[in-house]
Amino acid sequence: MPESERQLPLPIFDDGGSQIAPQASEPVMQSNAEPVGTQPALWPEFQPAAHEDARPGAHPETGGGEGNGAGREDEAAWTAVHEEKPRSLTDLQRECLTCGKCDLRAGCTQVVFGEGNPRAKLMFVGEGPGQQEDIQGRPFVGAAGQLLDRILAAVGIRRDEVYITNIVKCRPPRNRLPTSEEAEACLPHLFTQIRAIKPKIIVCLGALATQTLIDKRARITRVRGNWFRKNGIMYMPTFHPAALLRDETKKRPVWEDMKQVKEALDKLDAT
Ligand code: SF4
Repeated sequence: MPESERQLPLPIFDDGGSQIAPQASEPVMQSNAEPVGTQPALWPEFQPAAHEDARPGAHPETGGGEGNGAGREDEAAWTAVHEEKPRSLTDLQRECLTCGKCDLRAGCTQVVFGEGNPRAKLMFVGEGPGQQEDIQGRPFVGAAGQLLDRILAAVGIRRDEVYITNIVKCRPPRNRLPTSEEAEACLPHLFTQIRAIKPKIIVCLGALATQTLIDKRARITRVRGNWFRKNGIMYMPTFHPAALLRDETKKRPVWEDMKQVKEALDKLDAT
């Protein structure tokens, strides 16, 4: 039996009876992985993969700065947030709920700040609230959220031990993708959340989260499943659960990605 099958339970992506048998033959990291210059002791086993689309010009492990592909506005927003006095998650949520910094607020029912363990080591970031999230005021409670719950359960991660939020906190009209302007306007809210929670691992669910948090030019189909490190946080890009609902062939790669996340989480818990 492959090693990964011994370590983790079989997946139970049991929507309509379809299941994914894990195939551990694929390598955990891509073959084009590059050594990391200054690897923290906590992460000696990670060799983040190099990819020209995700990392134009330089090494993302440098954690920001010239050539890591991140937008200057995003870097500035990250820096600005970290120059502010730290605030509690409760205060941040209160501020966010009254935000009207972009036009999305006018078209949604309520702001969906995020929820979960305020000290979570693992954080999930999606795109934006959908209809059910807008109604209930909670992230990932619709069909895609229910699938995310099953994915978490399949790899042995409890939803109440993680923190879940989105790039934008207000529902875009007709569930369209947020624009780059809307994402940029909302980014300070996400950065203050990250600063307050201090996750060790962030899973980027889908292209928007990947491009916003890792690199604007990243293609999710090519970078998913690879670790990136930036500002002291390990990032794992993978497909958004909504994409799995549309395309079942994406379930297996997500299963492989989430096994990596679970293994990393276990190592963190063991330290
Ligand atoms: S999407 Fe974000 S920036 Fe725009 S109004 Fe809502 S909370 Fe504010």
